[in-house]
Parts: sequence; C-alpha cells; structure tokens
Amino acid sequence: MPIAPTVPPLNEKPLPSEKTAHRRARDSNGVEALIREMMKKHRTPLMILRKSQLIKQYRRFRRSLPQVMPFYAIKANPHPKVIKTFIQQKTGFDVASAEEMRLVLSLGAKPDKIIFANTIKSAEDIIAARKCGVRMMTCDNESELYKISEHYPGAHVLLRIKVENHLSVVNLSLKFGMDSDMALPMIRKAKALKLHPVGISFHVGSQSKNVENYLQALEITSQIFIEAQAAGIPLSIVDIGGGFPIQHFDSEIGINFERMAVQIQKQIKLLFDKKVKFIAEPGRFFVGPAGILVTQIVGRTFRNNKNYYYLNDGVYQDFSGMIFDHCKYEFKTLRRGQKFSSALAGPTCDSFDTLSLDAEIPELYVNDVVYVKNIGAYSSASAVSNFNGFHPAKIIFTA
Ligand SMILES: *Cc1c(COP(=O)(O)O)cnc(C)c1O
Repeated sequence: MPIAPTVPPLNEKPLPSEKTAHRRARDSNGVEALIREMMKKHRTPLMILRKSQLIKQYRRFRRSLPQVMPFYAIKANPHPKVIKTFIQQKTGFDVASAEEMRLVLSLGAKPDKIIFANTIKSAEDIIAARKCGVRMMTCDNESELYKISEHYPGAHVLLRIKVENHLSVVNLSLKFGMDSDMALPMIRKAKALKLHPVGISFHVGSQSKNVENYLQALEITSQIFIEAQAAGIPLSIVDIGGGFPIQHFDSEIGINFERMAVQIQKQIKLLFDKKVKFIAEPGRFFVGPAGILVTQIVGRTFRNNKNYYYLNDGVYQDFSGMIFDHCKYEFKTLRRGQKFSSALAGPTCDSFDTLSLDAEIPELYVNDVVYVKNIGAYSSASAVSNFNGFHPAKIIFTA
C-alpha cells in the first residue's frame, strides 16, 4: 500500500474557535455559577449535561466537515435526552447491540439513520436489526459475513479495516478490523453471499490526536475503492469512524479539531469521487464537553506527606473513564488559594479507588466542591450502579 502524502505545514495562526486565556477564565466563571445554582437544588455527586454544548459540538463538526454525516456513537453517553438532542439535530446513530438500537428507535430515530457498527453481532441481534429495518452494519471477518447473510439477506455491509492508531489514547485496532489486503476478497465474498458490500469503515482509535491516522486510513480506503471499482463492485460509502479528540485540560495544547478537519477534508477531496458518501461515528467529541461532574469532599486526612481528600464519587462510578477510557481529568475547586500537590480518592473501601496523587488544589475542607469539566463521555456510561453501596452521580440535563 502506498503511504499517505506528506502533510502540509500547519497554519500556526490561531483559528477563531481557539479560546483565549481570557475567554477561558470567563467560561470557568460561567461553569462555577452554574454549579452553585445547581447545588441549591440538588445533592452531589451531580453530573450536569449541557444541551447547548451538545449542539455546539454538533455544529462545529458540521461546519468543519460539511460533507461527512455524523452518526453519534451512543456508547459514549446513552442518556435519552442526549440522544433526543441529536435526533433533533438530524444526526444518525452508531449502535453496537440490539438494545442500543431499540433505545434510539424508541426515542424516534429513523432506522435508515442507524449503523450497527459492532463487527461482531449475535444472530439474535442481526435478526433484531432486520426486524427493525436497520440494514447498514459493519463487518471484518468471513464468519460474520456468513452469519449476516443467513439472518439478514441483502443487508448493507461496510467492511472494517485495521488502521494505524498511533498516538490515540484508546487503541481500537487491537480487537477490530481486517488487514486491508483482505478487503477485496471480502467484498467479493459479500457479493457472492448476496449481501450489499457498500463501503469501507475504519476507526483510528479514541481521542486520536494525530490527524495522520485519518489521512493514511483514507489513502488506504481510496485504494480499496479503486480495486473494487475495477472488480465491478463499486463502493459508495466511507465511514471514517470516531476518535475526534477533545480538550480535557484547560492548558492542553495540540488538540484542535478544526485543524484536523481541514486536512481530512482536503484528503477526501483529493482522493475520492464527489459521489462517494462520507459518514463518521463521533462519540467523545459530541458529548464530552457537555459534562460537568460535581463532587464534594466527604473526609480528609494527612498521609504520605500530603493531604488526602475523599470524594463522594470515584473510579467505580463517574470516574470509570480513568480505567476503561484511560482518561485523565483536571480537578478544579470552587475554593481559591495557594495550591498544593494533594491526593484525591473515591468513597469505596478499595485503594484502587484513587483518582490522583498529585492534584494541584488549595487546602480543602469537608463538604468543599471538587469538579471536573469535559467529562460527558465514557463516564456515567460505564459507572457501576451500586458497588459498596455507592451510586453514580445524579444526572441533570440542562440548557
Ligand atoms: C467507541 C466507538 C466510536 C466512538 O468513538 P469516539 O472515540 O468516542 O469518537 C465510534 N465507532 C465505533 C465502532 C466505536 O466502537
């Protein structure tokens, strides 16, 4: 396979969407005012999901990649109001199971705006997809093609290829995707089994900070399109997956969706015919910035030469992303003052339930607030409902 063309140098001039330090400070005040207001009515732990941020992210995506139709990957946050918001915005949905499929359908999503994007599906789930009229699905192996053709003749399949996940926080090519040189034989096989091989999908890994992964995956995909065309089985859809990164820390640099999008857009124009349709499966990018987690300190102690603060939410609950999503968060406080390196831990009786050993925070007292922004994705979604008698945060969906 040819390698991706070299990337033109980045335009270092800040784009209008990049926040200045000034705007960031104002934003932080807005968030703190919201937290104070919410705490008058609700107890912590509290997960505030802001609809305005969901819509803002959706619009950023559409503005930067106008020809790529997003299918929101609901595993990032399946809250019904999140799903409803995206239905109102007319996005599609990426589901991984019959249960997720039924959820989005029950909320009003149209079957033709759903992709069943789990490459491994049970026979029951394929049958459910057929009954619901969800005919677009991904696949990366021959056994699955046989299974789909048996239970859903005529289904539309996108063949998922393995691509580079270099510099992505979560590698998704370890478990999914076939080698790209298998694509053509699989397309032929799908056709022979009377399925409709409609396109190629890939996923560059979650929180992908490296646009090269997308550019290279598009290059490989375009070669497969050429081969398939020559073989008389033209393809029409490219699914560029998810992975679009968000900023978790205020001071984090090197994450700029708009800049990545410019290059993705260029690569699409360069390599594909205008008639080819593009879809994507953003999860984190759509919902991460909408979430603010508000916790309070239940107890404190001094050990190992530092202050230890115990919060009412931990890794078994809304900080589950620290484990499953390999995510790090910026811990903030409403209290101001000189900062010290301190430890933060969750409420359960497990040493593993430690959130940070070096959070830079002021001295805090019982009932003080510790909050985290940009925690709407892979947080409440993977929280355990009741471990040790502790529950995930109450979710408040707000404007
Ligand atoms: C998890 C997942 C997504 C969403 O990934 P993000 O990195 O959150 O954008 C999209 N597609 C598939 C197949 C996934 O498994």
